[in-house]
Amino acid sequence: MQIRRHEKPVSQMTQFDHIALHLTEIRARIATAAKTDGRAPEAVKLVAVSKTHPAEAVAAAIAAGQLIFGENRVQEAQAKFPALKALHPALELHLIGPLQSNKAADAVALFDVIESIDREKLARALADEMKKQGRRPACFIQVNTGEEPQKAGIHPGDVDGFVKLCRDELQLPIIGLMCIPPADQHPAPHFALLREMAKRNGLAQLSMGMSGDYEAAIQFGATYVRVGTAIFGAR
Ligand SMILES: *Cc1c(COP(=O)(O)O)cnc(C)c1O
Repeated sequence: MQIRRHEKPVSQMTQFDHIALHLTEIRARIATAAKTDGRAPEAVKLVAVSKTHPAEAVAAAIAAGQLIFGENRVQEAQAKFPALKALHPALELHLIGPLQSNKAADAVALFDVIESIDREKLARALADEMKKQGRRPACFIQVNTGEEPQKAGIHPGDVDGFVKLCRDELQLPIIGLMCIPPADQHPAPHFALLREMAKRNGLAQLSMGMSGDYEAAIQFGATYVRVGTAIFGAR
Protein backbone atom coordinates (compact mmCIF):
# COMPACT_ATOMS: atom_id res chain seq x y z
CA MET A 1 0.00 0.00 0.00
CA GLN A 2 1.26 3.42 -0.92
CA ILE A 3 1.54 5.97 1.86
CA ARG A 4 0.48 9.47 0.89
CA ARG A 5 3.25 11.97 1.48
CA HIS A 6 1.58 14.04 4.20
CA GLU A 7 0.89 11.00 6.31
CA LYS A 8 3.29 9.70 8.91
CA PRO A 9 3.89 5.95 9.04
CA VAL A 10 1.18 4.34 11.15
CA SER A 11 3.65 3.35 13.88
CA GLN A 12 4.53 6.99 14.54
CA MET A 13 1.13 8.44 13.84
CA THR A 14 -0.69 7.38 16.94
CA GLN A 15 1.94 6.88 19.61
CA PHE A 16 2.17 10.46 20.93
CA ASP A 17 -0.43 12.37 18.89
CA HIS A 18 -3.00 12.06 21.66
CA ILE A 19 -0.85 14.22 23.93
CA ALA A 20 -1.36 17.47 21.99
CA LEU A 21 -5.09 16.77 21.69
CA HIS A 22 -5.44 16.09 25.40
CA LEU A 23 -3.47 19.22 26.29
CA THR A 24 -5.73 21.38 24.14
CA GLU A 25 -8.82 19.98 25.81
CA ILE A 26 -7.46 20.26 29.35
CA ARG A 27 -6.31 23.86 28.79
CA ALA A 28 -9.83 24.74 27.64
CA ARG A 29 -11.34 23.08 30.72
CA ILE A 30 -8.90 24.87 33.01
CA ALA A 31 -9.75 28.22 31.41
CA THR A 32 -13.48 27.58 31.86
CA ALA A 33 -13.07 26.50 35.49
CA ALA A 34 -10.86 29.52 36.24
CA LYS A 35 -13.40 31.91 34.72
CA THR A 36 -16.18 30.31 36.77
CA ASP A 37 -14.06 31.05 39.85
CA GLY A 38 -13.61 34.65 38.67
CA ARG A 39 -9.95 34.21 37.73
CA ALA A 40 -7.91 34.57 34.56
CA PRO A 41 -6.95 31.31 32.83
CA GLU A 42 -3.26 32.13 33.46
CA ALA A 43 -3.91 32.10 37.21
CA VAL A 44 -4.01 28.30 37.07
CA LYS A 45 -0.85 26.51 35.97
CA LEU A 46 -0.90 23.02 34.52
CA VAL A 47 1.78 20.63 35.79
CA ALA A 48 1.99 17.75 33.29
CA VAL A 49 2.83 14.67 35.37
CA SER A 50 5.07 12.55 33.13
CA LYS A 51 6.14 9.83 35.59
CA THR A 52 6.60 6.40 33.94
CA HIS A 53 6.21 7.95 30.47
CA PRO A 54 9.28 8.19 28.20
CA ALA A 55 11.20 11.34 27.31
CA GLU A 56 9.60 11.15 23.84
CA ALA A 57 6.19 11.70 25.42
CA VAL A 58 7.55 14.72 27.27
CA ALA A 59 9.02 16.03 24.00
CA ALA A 60 5.60 15.69 22.36
CA ALA A 61 4.06 17.74 25.16
CA ILE A 62 6.77 20.39 24.81
CA ALA A 63 6.07 20.55 21.07
CA ALA A 64 2.45 21.25 22.03
CA GLY A 65 3.53 24.19 24.19
CA GLN A 66 3.70 22.54 27.62
CA LEU A 67 6.68 23.64 29.74
CA ILE A 68 5.79 22.64 33.32
CA PHE A 69 6.30 18.98 34.24
CA GLY A 70 6.00 16.89 37.38
CA GLU A 71 7.93 13.76 38.35
CA ASN A 72 7.66 11.75 41.55
CA ARG A 73 11.10 10.10 41.61
CA VAL A 74 14.47 11.80 41.58
CA GLN A 75 16.22 9.01 39.66
CA GLU A 76 13.64 8.83 36.90
CA ALA A 77 13.72 12.61 36.50
CA GLN A 78 17.53 12.54 36.35
CA ALA A 79 17.34 10.04 33.50
CA LYS A 80 14.76 12.00 31.49
CA PHE A 81 15.09 15.72 32.09
CA PRO A 82 18.65 17.10 31.93
CA ALA A 83 18.77 16.78 28.12
CA LEU A 84 15.29 18.29 27.73
CA LYS A 85 16.17 21.15 30.08
CA ALA A 86 19.30 21.90 28.05
CA LEU A 87 17.16 22.14 24.90
CA HIS A 88 14.35 24.10 26.58
CA PRO A 89 15.74 26.44 29.26
CA ALA A 90 12.23 27.66 30.18
CA LEU A 91 11.20 24.15 31.21
CA GLU A 92 10.04 24.04 34.85
CA LEU A 93 10.38 20.72 36.65
CA HIS A 94 8.39 19.94 39.80
CA LEU A 95 9.12 17.17 42.29
CA ILE A 96 5.74 15.87 43.46
CA GLY A 97 6.71 12.61 45.17
CA PRO A 98 8.29 11.59 48.47
CA LEU A 99 11.91 12.67 48.88
CA GLN A 100 14.52 10.95 51.05
CA SER A 101 16.76 13.36 52.94
CA ASN A 102 19.86 11.75 51.42
CA LYS A 103 18.56 12.72 47.94
CA ALA A 104 18.12 16.38 48.89
CA ALA A 105 21.29 17.41 47.04
CA ASP A 106 20.14 15.78 43.79
CA ALA A 107 16.67 17.26 44.15
CA VAL A 108 17.94 20.80 44.74
CA ALA A 109 20.27 20.47 41.74
CA LEU A 110 17.63 19.26 39.29
CA PHE A 111 14.17 20.49 40.28
CA ASP A 112 12.82 24.03 39.93
CA VAL A 113 9.98 23.44 42.38
CA ILE A 114 9.81 20.94 45.27
CA GLU A 115 6.18 20.25 46.19
CA SER A 116 6.59 17.46 48.72
CA ILE A 117 8.21 18.80 51.88
CA ASP A 118 6.59 16.62 54.51
CA ARG A 119 8.86 16.50 57.59
CA GLU A 120 11.40 18.48 59.56
CA LYS A 121 14.43 16.33 58.71
CA LEU A 122 13.82 16.82 54.99
CA ALA A 123 13.20 20.56 55.42
CA ARG A 124 16.55 20.89 57.22
CA ALA A 125 18.38 18.84 54.57
CA LEU A 126 16.90 21.00 51.78
CA ALA A 127 17.80 24.22 53.60
CA ASP A 128 21.42 23.02 54.00
CA GLU A 129 21.66 22.03 50.34
CA MET A 130 20.21 25.32 49.11
CA LYS A 131 22.89 27.16 51.08
CA LYS A 132 25.61 24.90 49.70
CA GLN A 133 24.47 25.05 46.09
CA GLY A 134 23.20 28.63 46.01
CA ARG A 135 20.14 27.31 44.21
CA ARG A 136 16.69 27.96 45.67
CA PRO A 137 13.86 25.91 44.13
CA ALA A 138 10.44 27.20 45.22
CA CYS A 139 8.85 24.90 47.80
CA PHE A 140 5.44 23.63 48.82
CA ILE A 141 4.59 21.90 52.07
CA GLN A 142 2.62 18.71 51.55
CA VAL A 143 -0.36 18.41 53.89
CA ASN A 144 -2.00 15.09 54.78
CA THR A 145 -5.50 16.60 54.80
CA GLY A 146 -7.13 13.18 55.21
CA GLU A 147 -4.84 12.27 58.13
CA GLU A 148 -4.19 8.93 56.43
CA PRO A 149 -1.56 6.91 58.30
CA GLN A 150 0.03 5.51 55.12
CA LYS A 151 0.23 8.87 53.37
CA ALA A 152 3.01 11.46 53.54
CA GLY A 153 2.36 15.01 54.61
CA ILE A 154 2.12 17.29 57.60
CA HIS A 155 -0.87 16.72 59.89
CA PRO A 156 -3.34 19.63 59.50
CA GLY A 157 -2.95 20.52 63.17
CA ASP A 158 0.82 20.93 62.75
CA VAL A 159 0.80 23.00 59.57
CA ASP A 160 1.03 26.50 61.09
CA GLY A 161 4.03 25.57 63.23
CA PHE A 162 5.74 23.75 60.36
CA VAL A 163 5.27 26.70 58.01
CA LYS A 164 6.89 28.95 60.64
CA LEU A 165 9.83 26.57 61.07
CA CYS A 166 10.42 26.32 57.30
CA ARG A 167 9.96 30.01 56.58
CA ASP A 168 11.40 31.78 59.61
CA GLU A 169 14.04 29.45 61.02
CA LEU A 170 15.18 27.57 57.89
CA GLN A 171 14.43 30.41 55.46
CA LEU A 172 13.13 28.04 52.82
CA PRO A 173 11.35 29.69 49.86
CA ILE A 174 7.91 28.32 50.78
CA ILE A 175 5.29 29.51 48.28
CA GLY A 176 2.32 27.28 49.03
CA LEU A 177 0.67 24.06 50.18
CA MET A 178 0.06 20.80 48.33
CA CYS A 179 -2.31 17.92 49.05
CA ILE A 180 -3.44 14.55 47.71
CA PRO A 181 -6.96 13.90 49.07
CA PRO A 182 -7.93 10.34 50.09
CA ALA A 183 -8.88 8.35 46.99
CA ASP A 184 -12.15 7.14 48.51
CA GLN A 185 -13.55 10.51 49.61
CA HIS A 186 -15.05 13.53 47.92
CA PRO A 187 -12.08 15.85 47.45
CA ALA A 188 -13.93 19.15 47.98
CA PRO A 189 -13.58 19.35 51.80
CA HIS A 190 -9.85 18.63 51.44
CA PHE A 191 -9.41 21.37 48.85
CA ALA A 192 -11.33 23.78 51.09
CA LEU A 193 -9.18 22.86 54.11
CA LEU A 194 -5.94 23.37 52.16
CA ARG A 195 -7.12 26.77 50.93
CA GLU A 196 -8.02 27.83 54.48
CA MET A 197 -4.61 26.74 55.86
CA ALA A 198 -2.74 28.53 53.06
CA LYS A 199 -4.75 31.70 53.56
CA ARG A 200 -4.14 31.97 57.29
CA ASN A 201 -0.41 31.42 56.71
CA GLY A 202 -0.17 34.02 53.94
CA LEU A 203 0.72 31.46 51.25
CA ALA A 204 -0.54 32.30 47.76
CA GLN A 205 -0.03 29.00 45.92
CA LEU A 206 -2.21 25.90 46.13
CA SER A 207 -1.17 22.69 44.35
CA MET A 208 -4.23 20.46 44.27
CA GLY A 209 -6.32 18.55 41.73
CA MET A 210 -5.33 15.62 39.50
CA SER A 211 -6.85 14.05 36.35
CA GLY A 212 -10.14 13.20 38.01
CA ASP A 213 -10.75 16.37 39.98
CA TYR A 214 -8.71 19.30 38.68
CA GLU A 215 -11.78 21.33 37.71
CA ALA A 216 -13.20 20.92 41.23
CA ALA A 217 -9.82 21.94 42.69
CA ILE A 218 -9.85 25.13 40.62
CA GLN A 219 -13.25 26.02 42.11
CA PHE A 220 -11.49 25.91 45.49
CA GLY A 221 -8.64 28.14 44.40
CA ALA A 222 -6.00 25.77 42.98
CA THR A 223 -3.15 27.69 41.34
CA TYR A 224 -1.36 24.52 40.20
CA VAL A 225 -3.12 21.36 39.04
CA ARG A 226 -1.09 18.15 38.59
CA VAL A 227 -2.45 16.12 35.69
CA GLY A 228 -0.90 12.89 34.41
CA THR A 229 -3.27 10.26 33.07
CA ALA A 230 -5.58 12.72 31.29
CA ILE A 231 -2.60 14.01 29.27
CA PHE A 232 -0.31 11.04 28.72
CA GLY A 233 -2.72 8.12 29.09
CA ALA A 234 -2.73 5.23 31.54
CA ARG A 235 0.45 4.26 33.38
C1 LIG B 1 0.80 10.68 39.76
C2 LIG B 1 0.48 11.92 40.51
C3 LIG B 1 -0.41 12.88 39.97
C4 LIG B 1 -1.15 12.70 38.65
O1 LIG B 1 -2.17 11.78 38.80
P1 LIG B 1 -3.20 11.50 37.59
O2 LIG B 1 -4.38 10.90 38.27
O3 LIG B 1 -2.51 10.56 36.67
O4 LIG B 1 -3.51 12.78 36.96
C5 LIG B 1 -0.62 14.04 40.70
N1 LIG B 1 -0.01 14.26 41.89
C6 LIG B 1 0.84 13.37 42.43
C7 LIG B 1 1.48 13.67 43.72
C8 LIG B 1 1.11 12.17 41.76
O5 LIG B 1 1.95 11.28 42.32
